[in-house]
Amino acid sequence: MNSISETAPAAGGCLCGAVRYLVVAPPQSCSHCHCTLCRRASGSGFVTWATVPASAFRITRGVPRAYHWSPRAVRQFCADCGSQLTFQFAAMADEIDFTCATLDEPGRVAPAYHTWIAAKLPWIMVGDTLPQHAEWGVDIVPDGV
Ligand SMILES: [Zn+2]
Ligand SMILES: [Zn+2]
Repeated sequence: MNSISETAPAAGGCLCGAVRYLVVAPPQSCSHCHCTLCRRASGSGFVTWATVPASAFRITRGVPRAYHWSPRAVRQFCADCGSQLTFQFAAMADEIDFTCATLDEPGRVAPAYHTWIAAKLPWIMVGDTLPQHAEWGVDIVPDGV
């Protein structure tokens, strides 16, 4: 895994290319989320997120649309193609999560655990040995989403 830094940034973007971003710091955490909201937003069985300081995540092209499922958090996605790009808690605006699968080189991040295993779909077979947390696990989150 190549470490991500200011001098070795990781680029990413949405399916259509209208939104591009650059990550310039190594993720503070990286995990697979099986929660119902991530599943519904992405249309997939789970979503893999990495967390970086908000200052280390830079949109370099386009303007993603923001969706507030609740006042506590916002998800950003491409208004043209629908790719899910970021998640951010209003109470933790100094951090941002981005969807690892939208990186140009997703292998540069390494998921370390699963969250919301309690909501895992029966047809998702977890075959790795990463820790599984019923809900948030080791993430520090505000009360509720
Ligand atoms: Zn797009
Ligand atoms: Zn989730």
